[in-house]
Amino acid sequence: MRVRFRANRAKPARTKDWTRQYAEGADELLAGPQGERVKAKGDLSRKRTVVEPEDKPSSAAEARQLSGVVLSIQGPIARIDDGDQSWACTIRRVLRTRMIGQRSPVAVGDRVRFTPLTEPQREDREGVIESVEPRNSVLLRRYGDRIHAMVANVDQVLVVASAALPPLKPHLIDRYLVAAEAGELTPVICINKVDLDEGGQVEATLQIYRRLGYACVATSVVEGVGIDQLRRELGGKETVIAGQSGVGKSSLLNAMQPGLKLKVGPVSKATLKGRHTTATAELLKLDVGGYVVDTPGIRQFELAPIGLGELEAYFVEFVPLVAECKYADCKHIPEGNCAVKQAVEQGRIDRGRYESYVRLFGELKEPLRDGPLPDDS
Ligand code: GDP
Ligand code: ZN
Repeated sequence: MRVRFRANRAKPARTKDWTRQYAEGADELLAGPQGERVKAKGDLSRKRTVVEPEDKPSSAAEARQLSGVVLSIQGPIARIDDGDQSWACTIRRVLRTRMIGQRSPVAVGDRVRFTPLTEPQREDREGVIESVEPRNSVLLRRYGDRIHAMVANVDQVLVVASAALPPLKPHLIDRYLVAAEAGELTPVICINKVDLDEGGQVEATLQIYRRLGYACVATSVVEGVGIDQLRRELGGKETVIAGQSGVGKSSLLNAMQPGLKLKVGPVSKATLKGRHTTATAELLKLDVGGYVVDTPGIRQFELAPIGLGELEAYFVEFVPLVAECKYADCKHIPEGNCAVKQAVEQGRIDRGRYESYVRLFGELKEPLRDGPLPDDS
């Protein structure tokens, strides 16, 4: 079956309920076979081959299936929480075969149906994942020559940076923002260690992002600044926490809720039996409602490839201007009569943001290659 993804105009400027708007605009948002939500962007039109499963399970087999959420994936085994107990599941081959563009067929946070292979009373429950529900959001990264879905179905990503130690790098924030926008997650920006801020750099940086409509919090774990506001931003939501090592992510979680980092979710507790492996996502339950997903791989990552024509759509301040560029396919880099570059010259677009765009544009032009994840710093 050949599926044609319709071309679509660039994403509109951020509004509060843009996710819903997309969900309602059926032709703007298309689901792949895994329900991988794919928005055709810019003047791109994509074609994808979709393989239908050959062995459709009988309704009797379907009736035996259970629903659950993927808590962790280690090699071929996915740890599934059925709301009560956890199961070690493999993934049905047909699902693997349907993996498109080397995207992960099953990711942490996916809601799945699985067939139990053992009695639920047993300690070592096992099963097979049969299907994955459509994803509401997905955070993708590039991993060598592959695209890896780090986490699915969370509401927002808390992008943590620090005023110093390590030094503040707005470009890293922009990188996370693009990944969040591309994956339909709402970003919240936190700059920690404001006690180390000299010369008001933190406020100046946050002001740039506030003007773009992003939620921003300045915090200091040492001085107890901004922790209440952070709690309010995360309350009742499912949040994945991202940011360079050392910026204070663990410290912030513990400041928000003492012992949070020690209080591993019910399933992890049951399955890990005290062992802590870095590959395992931790679902941390907040007293104020909601969860924080802390997966080491999410902390630092390389941007998954996105269409060059799409990148402009993820710089929210570019979006209202691109229609004014002389050339319909303006890249906003070498061209003349470019409304984006004019806005940069006039100070209406922050120069650092524009430089981030140029840098990411250059990186995305490079083909996928094998190799370890480069250091983002
Ligand atoms: P993570 O790697 O992002 O989880 O960072 P950690 O939470 O492990 O913190 C890294 C270091 O930064 C630790 O030594 C913390 O004590 C320190 N740290 C965390 N928050 C603050 C803060 O607000 N101000 C200062 N000065 N240091 C902090
Ligand atoms: Zn332009």
